Amino acid sequence: MQAIVLHGKQDLRFNPNHRTPKPGTGEVLLRMTYSSICQTDIEMWQHGMFNINSGPRILGHEAAGIVEALGEGVKSIQVGTRVAVENVRTCRVCFFCRKGTSQLCDNGRNFGFTDDGGLAEYGVWPADLCIPLPDNVTNEEAPLAEPTSVAVHAVENANITTGLSTAIIGCGVVGLATLQVLKAAGTTVIAIDPREQSLAIAKEVGATEILNPTKTDPAQALPELTNGHGPDVIIETAGAPGTALNAAQWVRKGGRVVIVGFSHQDQTLNFGRAHQGEKTVIASSATSTGGYKKAVELIARGAVNVKPLISDLVPLNRGIQDGFERMLRPNKNVYRILVGNG
Ligand SMILES: [Zn+2]
Ligand SMILES: [Zn+2]
Repeated sequence: MQAIVLHGKQDLRFNPNHRTPKPGTGEVLLRMTYSSICQTDIEMWQHGMFNINSGPRILGHEAAGIVEALGEGVKSIQVGTRVAVENVRTCRVCFFCRKGTSQLCDNGRNFGFTDDGGLAEYGVWPADLCIPLPDNVTNEEAPLAEPTSVAVHAVENANITTGLSTAIIGCGVVGLATLQVLKAAGTTVIAIDPREQSLAIAKEVGATEILNPTKTDPAQALPELTNGHGPDVIIETAGAPGTALNAAQWVRKGGRVVIVGFSHQDQTLNFGRAHQGEKTVIASSATSTGGYKKAVELIARGAVNVKPLISDLVPLNRGIQDGFERMLRPNKNVYRILVGNG
């Protein structure tokens, strides 16, 4: 089968004759439709993260497919079902899984990271982690359920109640999904990003206000837009140097900051100032149990519109040139490129 395989740092190859996998007990064989390339894939390719030293790995953790064959004992799903791949496979028995915090599982495995992913003609994954797609969610939209599930978890961590004022820093794919999950939860959302194109999409998908920090200082504008106090909640999805710190500074006293984006650069928080304001800063990583199903539901009922985030469709045999290499360009002007044979 065709596959896009990461062999090591800066060594990504298209293999037209990769071994086709066989589903084990409880697993299904999927004919992959599309997988989207995200910044994490680019980081792994460029900098060699995670488990790529454990052997060549098919990338693609934001993936969707059609059930092609069933492994032993699979009764919950039928051949021909269109699915989105819930990419985190947890052990269900460790301390964290038993506490209901499976996103912290000690033995977690991931489609496209520790295990082969969706950038291939076929993939295998546990049947119960293949989420059937409602008719109105297309194969193109389905991979975007993954970043949407990250947004769902961030909003869970933000402890949202109806009527709160919120802001998001960063209007990339996760930021724009977070914006819409917040709106669905009944908050106002101020979207902050230096890219005008991203702010235009933010407006299109429901931002209450948009702010370009290169033109307007959010430290001044945010209180003006929120009755003088600052937003109740800020969700940081940019992961740029200094943005986590900005979130902690701009949230109102007693407010809550959720950090979703990550930066390898250290950022110094003045704990004295955070202490005076009784601010809460929490981290949100990947998604929780149920987050993926909720993401598919939100897309199905139109509460989250991922269509503006799909920038291009590329077949597998062009995925490296027209997908990965394009993502390296400084003016790439893309959100998600979908790679697959449809
Ligand atoms: Zn991703
Ligand atoms: Zn576990």
